[in-house]
Amino acid sequence: MSAELFDYAIIGAGAAGLQLALAMESDAYFSEKSILILDKDGKTANDKTWCFWEIGQGKWDGLISKSWETGLFHGKDQSEVLNLSPYKYKMLRSEDFYAHAKNRLLQAANIQWVQEEITEVQRGEKVTLSTQKATYKAAIVFDSRVPEEWSTDPNSLRIYQHFRGWRIKTVKNVFDPESFTMMDYRLGFEDSCCFTYILPISSKEALIEFTFFTPDMRGSDHYDELLKKYIAQVLKVESYQKLEVEEGVIPMTNYPFEKHQSDKLIKIGAAAGWVKASTGYSFNNAGKKVDHLIQAIKSKSQLNENSAQRFKLYDSTLLHVLQNHNSKGPQLFTDLYTKNPIQRLFRFLDEESSPLDELAVMASVDKAAFGKAFLKELFR
Ligand SMILES: Cc1cc2nc3c(=O)[nH]c(=O)nc-3n(C[C@H](O)[C@H](O)[C@H](O)COP(=O)(O)OP(=O)(O)OC[C@H]3O[C@@H](n4cnc5c(N)ncnc54)[C@H](O)[C@@H]3O)c2cc1C
Repeated sequence: MSAELFDYAIIGAGAAGLQLALAMESDAYFSEKSILILDKDGKTANDKTWCFWEIGQGKWDGLISKSWETGLFHGKDQSEVLNLSPYKYKMLRSEDFYAHAKNRLLQAANIQWVQEEITEVQRGEKVTLSTQKATYKAAIVFDSRVPEEWSTDPNSLRIYQHFRGWRIKTVKNVFDPESFTMMDYRLGFEDSCCFTYILPISSKEALIEFTFFTPDMRGSDHYDELLKKYIAQVLKVESYQKLEVEEGVIPMTNYPFEKHQSDKLIKIGAAAGWVKASTGYSFNNAGKKVDHLIQAIKSKSQLNENSAQRFKLYDSTLLHVLQNHNSKGPQLFTDLYTKNPIQRLFRFLDEESSPLDELAVMASVDKAAFGKAFLKELFR
């Protein structure tokens, strides 16, 4: 049986794959091109709550379920109010994003969406994609499968951002719905870098996540215990109902994902290193990378774009510290969030900072630990 042929195939209808598919669907350049989207999952569950910051209005504002102009940071014994203006911190539930994307994409005559798992990819003049049910061919494939090697490569630095969150409803008014908590280090676990993150939806409802940034899955049996403890001891809440659970593991690494791609098999999303190595954020970055990909396809130029070397070096420096001196993490983030205006930090993390911003950020953290790590990574 001959394989169906497409101009483009997108493996993975996640944050990256769907942002790419939606960008193609809304661009007349692609209206005559055949596009295949493949995902093993039905994409109906609310499996992720994506948050990101941006200035002013954004592309996804119609889908945003909550946004904040103020945040809080708590170190072990130091707190900071984060006045974000002109930024806003925005929350997008993945089920809303998936439903919106499906609704748009399934109406397009040139787009086909199949729920199948890719079991094999063969490169050739056309790329061949096999599933248990069928074989497809495409001139260019965008692939969001994360290569397993990232977690064993001896030459790269890696931290797991692993967490579990509960969306809870309380009996009494507990939360300030106008202010989210970026990081709260007051409840620790052994000597790991771990914190609580709170997204308040109303005064009685919030998503509360206990998060680790650790070189292994240390503490992963303890999320529920730590969440219970945080709610009882820090929030001092006794009565609440658990509405939803969210958990995840996000790679924070300088693994060279680009080595897995070629002209016809373009990696996207976490599989392309679009997750910021020092933070684990990637939703907004995926939008920027998608814009670049669309421009590159239309102008037939280089499809792969990498971060500037200096940002890779900063990310590696932070990873180096967290991998080798994990217990320094809480103080490191406390310095970053209490000694820099949040706007400078956001510019830095968005890789849009000036050299002066970067010097100020570097000067705000433990110079001995950071300086040593910086030099080691520079000469690596
Ligand atoms: C729970 C959670 C919360 C997060 N919160 C944030 C946040 O607040 N802000 C932020 O910026 N980032 C966040 N991230 C990090 C990052 O933005 C997400 O991981 C993001 O979804 C990555 O996008 P992606 O497209 O690479 O991967 P995904 O969104 O995971 O999509 C990959 C898709 O590929 C499919 N797939 C994989 N293998 C195959 C195969 N063989 N065949 C067919 N389909 C396949 C999967 O089913 C999946 O749908 C979060 C991550 C997690 C796990």
